[in-house]
Order: sequence, then structure tokens, then C-alpha cells
Amino acid sequence: MKITVDRTKCEGYAKCIQATPKVFRLDKTMIAEVIDSKGDSDEKILLAAKICPTKAISLEEEGTGKKIYPAG
Ligand code: SF4
Repeated sequence: MKITVDRTKCEGYAKCIQATPKVFRLDKTMIAEVIDSKGDSDEKILLAAKICPTKAISLEEEGTGKKIYPAG
């Protein structure tokens, strides 16, 4: 799964990091970045995207580019 963080939307709430600490971390400007897109199951990563208060995380299928979240 391809994970994108919209850095203009992320406000550093770190909910995504609590949910999937091996996938996301906060960089030094307190904005989330992806460290390992395979660091957790797709289900957990989808959950992390859903709980982001600013909807900064989007997910696409690897290869096909089909939107997984938010639904396109
Ligand atoms: S949950 Fe959303 S706003 Fe919070 S750090 Fe993650 S991407 Fe940023």
C-alpha cells in the first residue's frame, strides 16, 4: 500500500503514530512522515488513516494507484 501524508494538513496530533508506531513518526517539525509502509498490517494502517483528525493520510493500492482511503 502506498501511504501519503499531506504535510500541509497534518497538525502533529500523533494519532497515526499511536496506532501504528512502526509506520509513522513525527519529524523534527512535528509533522508525520512514513518510515515503513509495511511496518504494520493494511488493516491497522487503514485504521490509522481513519483516526487522523485532519484527514492528512491517504492510501493507494501499490501498482494500480487505486484509492483506498479516502474512497475515491
Ligand atoms: S494523525 Fe494525522 S495530524 Fe496526527 S500526526 Fe498523524 S497525520 Fe498528522
